[in-house]
Amino acid sequence: MNIESGARAGVRPARDLEKLLHEIDGRGYPAYKDVKGAYDFGRFVLVIDHVQGDPFAAPSRLRLLLTPSSMGLPPWACSTDLRCIATADWLVRRFARALDERRRRPPVSMPASSSPRPVSEGGAGNGRPWYGSGKSGLIDIDRPGQQILPSTAAVVTPARVELRFVAGLPAAGRRILGRQAAAMLASEIPALVNRSLVLGSRDLSDLETHIFTVEDQEALRAALAAHRLIAFVADGSILPRESGISDRPRRGPNVVPFTAPDSLAVTLDTPHGGPVRGLGIPAGVTLIVGGGYHGKSTLLRSLALGIYNHVPGDGRERVVTDPTAVKIRAEDGRRVEQVDISPFIRNLPFGADTRRFSTEEASGSTSQAANIVEALELGARVLLIDEDTSATNFMIRDRRMQALISKDREPITPFIDRVRSLWEDRGVSSVIVVGGAGDYLDVADTVIHMDHYRPLDATAAAREVAARFVTGRLQEDPQPFPVLLPRRPVPESVDPRRGSRVKIKARGVDEIAFGFEEIDLAAVEQIVHPGQTRAIGAMIQYLAEHYLDGRTPLREALEKLMAEIKERGLDILSPHGSPVGDLALPRLFEVGAAINRLRSLSVRVGPA
Ligand code: ADP
Ligand code: MG
Repeated sequence: MNIESGARAGVRPARDLEKLLHEIDGRGYPAYKDVKGAYDFGRFVLVIDHVQGDPFAAPSRLRLLLTPSSMGLPPWACSTDLRCIATADWLVRRFARALDERRRRPPVSMPASSSPRPVSEGGAGNGRPWYGSGKSGLIDIDRPGQQILPSTAAVVTPARVELRFVAGLPAAGRRILGRQAAAMLASEIPALVNRSLVLGSRDLSDLETHIFTVEDQEALRAALAAHRLIAFVADGSILPRESGISDRPRRGPNVVPFTAPDSLAVTLDTPHGGPVRGLGIPAGVTLIVGGGYHGKSTLLRSLALGIYNHVPGDGRERVVTDPTAVKIRAEDGRRVEQVDISPFIRNLPFGADTRRFSTEEASGSTSQAANIVEALELGARVLLIDEDTSATNFMIRDRRMQALISKDREPITPFIDRVRSLWEDRGVSSVIVVGGAGDYLDVADTVIHMDHYRPLDATAAAREVAARFVTGRLQEDPQPFPVLLPRRPVPESVDPRRGSRVKIKARGVDEIAFGFEEIDLAAVEQIVHPGQTRAIGAMIQYLAEHYLDGRTPLREALEKLMAEIKERGLDILSPHGSPVGDLALPRLFEVGAAINRLRSLSVRVGPA
């Protein structure tokens, strides 16, 4: 087969692998190291990149190398970069489904083992369909969620396809189960390939749907700016999720599909789905109002994730948002390093300089201010804010509080007094969920009323109410939004080493251990996949090594890194040698958010 020339050279026949595995049967686990290498199975090449040190360690890393023609994958599947990404995602999902199947129905023809101890938690639970110690028998691939992200689990180019997965090489205690390993690698894997990666015409029509869905989303997102919109929610979209811990669509008779009111409806064109009607959220200041439990936060959350493409059937595959939209919230306790929060906060007790505000432990309001300014610094043109997760005193100070506490005793200029200048002077739009603070009606361009999960246009009604019930609020501090000075990270302050070893470890979507630090990402809500967290950890290290020099502004360094990844792929992040299969691409904003939360970060502010 026509695998890229470099890899070809060391490829051995598949029967060598089988032979080797039988030879080491019964020996100590380290003898598995001998199977490292590449093996030709005809339809594909199996590469064993990394062999785990023992059955309990992180599983071994393997790759399948195929050609599109050997899989029956037509040229249209990878005729553009976007299609290659969509196809890679689709292949990973297929392979993962075949693995689920394997988990449910363990292979019956497994050779009798040399009396391995049954492991109670094995079987159905961990993708380990038969006995053995540690991770014996596991085969798994980094599974995508509801979003379609560029990832390293599969790499697809017009000439080749590569799937990366992990396997637990079987052992009884620490003794190699060579025959099981041979069955797993030399029979099960080819069967999995045949089942999931050799494609028939029905499969190809499913792939086409996958690709077309992605292309339609990209087209909708690309159409926003020309229509002066910052988001679009198609009619029929299903926004609520199965549960607080599941990102799948909710189903059942009580789910209300989205329908745009006529006055806010727009129709956008898609290349495959034709014209699509839906709610267009105009640039400017938009409020989402409505009674409690009427779907406000669910809509905002869908907008926050509209920066990503979603799988067919997700319910949000026609919900798209300006790619620079950043979800903002209060995040007390976070660290802040020299951020200019003076547009929102000035004259703190003890004269802390809020043009270069630093703290080890921000309050609700200072954290929310820093989150906004950092997002602006990185180029956000849309802010998404939910009253539920905001600091009240950051959002609003009403007439009575203005009367009781005079402005010279209140450091905070609330968001309500900045949101218009953000839009008018800087072109930054805001979408704000407001259930309680009616003063906001004065500053809105558009008001969407969520009523029993149905959006209504309340813009005119809101104007009328605003005119009828004058709040008497005084506009506070009507100065223009200041020019933000670039922050230039000091590379030595971004150091993943713990002693002599580099230590970067992502935990779920919420945390990265980085050197001696823990980066808390729980409030960075637009990270959707652990692969992104892993990539962020690696990207920060890469950034420090290649792009930070104490003079380059954070944004510029991040833009260069993102450009290099776009050009060369996420594999530049793979730690020396063999490529890993568990990275997914984050946005520049989320990488920046992680750096900004690094407790060791030190920046120089202002001109270089
Ligand atoms: P709010 O922010 O207005 O208080 P939420 O967005 O938190 O309301 O929604 C309240 C509940 O209603 C949640 O359980 C959510 O999943 C559910 N929900 C949201 N939108 C819909 C919908 N379109 N159909 C059915 N249930 C929905
Ligand atoms: Mg809410």
